Amino acid sequence: MYDNNYLVSRLRIASVGREDAVFLADHQTGERVTYGAFFANCEKMAAALVADGLKPGDRVAVQAPKTRAMLELYVGAVLAGGVFLPLNAAYTAAEVSYFLSDAAPRLLVCDPEAVEALEPVAEDCGVQKILTLAADETGTMADARDAQSSGFAAVARKSDDLAAILYTSGTTGRSKGAMLTHRALASNSETLREYWHFTSDDVLIHALPIFHTHGLFVATNITLMAGGSCIFMARFDAEAIRDHMPNATALMGVPTFYVRLFATPGLAKASRNMRLFVSGSAPLLAETHNKWRAVTGHAILERYGMTETNMNTSNPYDGDRRAGTVGFPLPGVEVIVTDPDTGQEMPRGEIGVLEVRGPNVFAGYWQMPEKTAEELRDNGFFITGDLGCIDEDGYVNIVGRSKDLIISGGFNVYPKEIELVIDDLDGVVESAVIGVPHGDFGEAVVAVIVPEPNSDLTAEGVQASLLGALAKFKQPKSLIFVEELPRNTMGKVQKNELRKKHAGLFSS
Ligand code: AMP
Repeated sequence: MYDNNYLVSRLRIASVGREDAVFLADHQTGERVTYGAFFANCEKMAAALVADGLKPGDRVAVQAPKTRAMLELYVGAVLAGGVFLPLNAAYTAAEVSYFLSDAAPRLLVCDPEAVEALEPVAEDCGVQKILTLAADETGTMADARDAQSSGFAAVARKSDDLAAILYTSGTTGRSKGAMLTHRALASNSETLREYWHFTSDDVLIHALPIFHTHGLFVATNITLMAGGSCIFMARFDAEAIRDHMPNATALMGVPTFYVRLFATPGLAKASRNMRLFVSGSAPLLAETHNKWRAVTGHAILERYGMTETNMNTSNPYDGDRRAGTVGFPLPGVEVIVTDPDTGQEMPRGEIGVLEVRGPNVFAGYWQMPEKTAEELRDNGFFITGDLGCIDEDGYVNIVGRSKDLIISGGFNVYPKEIELVIDDLDGVVESAVIGVPHGDFGEAVVAVIVPEPNSDLTAEGVQASLLGALAKFKQPKSLIFVEELPRNTMGKVQKNELRKKHAGLFSS
């Protein structure tokens, strides 16, 4: 089915002839959606998009609550030859305007509650139409779907055509659109399905957001490719996850999930029949790994990936899942460690920049040929920006990030973007934004601010000014006022010193 469409044919193949098998069960209502019903709706979504004028290669931007309909729209957009472009639901209208002007999507699908704020922004960016999808699965996009019949003939797309663009944050405040081909997505999910032993018997607890590679591609594509099912949760809820465990086999999460799950009583009993716990998107503390094993008897399987590359490495399914490591390069994926200055490959065990090559790697940054050339070498290796080493047993260890990326609750936060907003406020001389260890979020965003002498700047005042300017996950959890920032002889702010000094801010 859909043979001419590289990705969707592969997402469909495991469920052909199993139309009545359950793909997704709503975690609250218990409503079950079969594979037959899901793909019929994907076809209707595709038909609605094409009826609306969507041409192959057109972008479909979506900033909407996590719903089944949004998954139908993802698969439908790809089936229609389009390029799916999901946006973090927390982005403000001001932030969304950058993505719309950069990606020039034909269509924006958003939460009905956001239409008023997004309409003028979309109009300015030349978006031709806004449709809606609400948290309760209703909206004008759902109506357009329901007005169509199933039986849509898939639009032909080859392996190197684009299926999606996912934006990463940029250190200079400019995000980059990672262009992901049909092959990159399909090959990575196929590899992971095999590596992690997913089959049609699996029931995945799906509690990750679907605007990010982890929840959208890893969790969803693997389930579809295995012909398994998922318990679909609109958001993370520790107690509900624990309650679903006896009816599930696998959970994919960010480290914060596991830290929070410890607080739920009865975890050991609930998790008894689960077969797999996966963690990624941020470093899982060895302490969390060890505690999880002690409490539940399961060793969390940690993997490493990124928006541009999908997944690169994974701890083994059978074998030693080593705490504090991200395991081995996946089959078909090469990982090397290079000298940040010379680009030469480094000897085993030495720390350098991780570079990755394989069918999983993106095709470049959307309309940014110079950036693409800087980070994607002619020989196919992508310079990840992560610092790490490969130990004598072949396990990859990530020791830090060469850029000052903060990962809070699984979300990437680039300090520069926040510093620019804070520095713009009246009464601020300058600021430095750092990530500080936080038991719950992994890292918390902390802003160290130098106020003008005699200014009446207050923490509350700064926080209030940031509310409309930055998504919630980027807002500092703590503001520290200082007379001056520590600098080295070259005048560079020494963030390492700040991180060291404030490392204990959130420890109890
Ligand atoms: P994203 O593009 O949002 O998926 O973020 C990718 C970045 O998250 C990577 O470049 C790493 O810095 C970080 N990351 C992902 N998985 C892990 C992991 N298991 N351990 C440490 N860092 C990770």
